[in-house]
Amino acid sequence: MSADRYLGLDLGGTNIKVAVVEEDPGAAQPRIVFTARHATHAELGPQSVTDRLIAVARSTIDEVGPVETAGLGVPGLFQADTGRITLFPNLPGEWPGHSLRDPIAEGVRVPTTVINDTRAFLLAEGTLGAGRRHRIVFGVTLGTGIGGSIMIDGRIHLGAFGTAGEIGHQVIATDGPLCGCGHNGCLEALAKASSLTELAGVGDAETVYERAAAGDEASIAAVKTVAGYIGTGLANVVTLPGPDCIVVGGGIMAAGEIALDPIRRATRARVRLVPADAICIVAAELGDFAGAIGAALAGRAQAADLSARSSTGQK
Ligand SMILES: [Zn+2]
Repeated sequence: MSADRYLGLDLGGTNIKVAVVEEDPGAAQPRIVFTARHATHAELGPQSVTDRLIAVARSTIDEVGPVETAGLGVPGLFQADTGRITLFPNLPGEWPGHSLRDPIAEGVRVPTTVINDTRAFLLAEGTLGAGRRHRIVFGVTLGTGIGGSIMIDGRIHLGAFGTAGEIGHQVIATDGPLCGCGHNGCLEALAKASSLTELAGVGDAETVYERAAAGDEASIAAVKTVAGYIGTGLANVVTLPGPDCIVVGGGIMAAGEIALDPIRRATRARVRLVPADAICIVAAELGDFAGAIGAALAGRAQAADLSARSSTGQK
């Protein structure tokens, strides 16, 4: 008999990424056995994207064999009980009210769970990636937007409203620029990739970091300013959930240590209650497929919860 496998799909505006993880009989955690990427064609709208997700899931199962569950990472908000989308800011079309979970569950005939993509990122990095040896892990994604999430003892801490850890909407400067959420001075408004490039007067974030490393003064100043905002947000994170590891991912991490080092310094400079060298800030390890891997792990976690409940006679 083959080991149990779990399918993960990560819905993005450009690509649908796929991962399959498989139980490893000799280890506590599963191993990644398959990854692939397909075009989303988001411009064709919600129904077409749903059909495409089902087709991608089916073709993956044809290739790797049967799976126990499917997980779907989504770039937005959804109702936890119904899986219906409430907000998809980056995909065109009438998404609010559209269900993805039930059509996929019917299409692939396995229990299906939906998870926000930032939480999927952390579930993957905290289980199999850069945070795997730590108990309390904070994940932050820095790019077009800024996302964050909290993992405690192997589980994502969602909070009462499913939004715990959303560091992008932590107010850093009450008189700061207007954020997409309607408030002023959120970390996202101050430190998203486009804020960095505007400050530096350069087209893309990776170039800003390259120029900063080469000694360009405007780029150095922009990197320092933005790292200061991110460091303020992460220092607040050190104070509140008290993570023993912060994993940093997202588009700007293409620049690697030259992006991470100023953030690490700025965070350490702002924390007094914890020794600076005890603050662990590391780059994500799983790359582009972290979201799909995390979605697969979310389905696996749900299956484990269901079997634990049925074995104790609970519904
Ligand atoms: Zn905001």
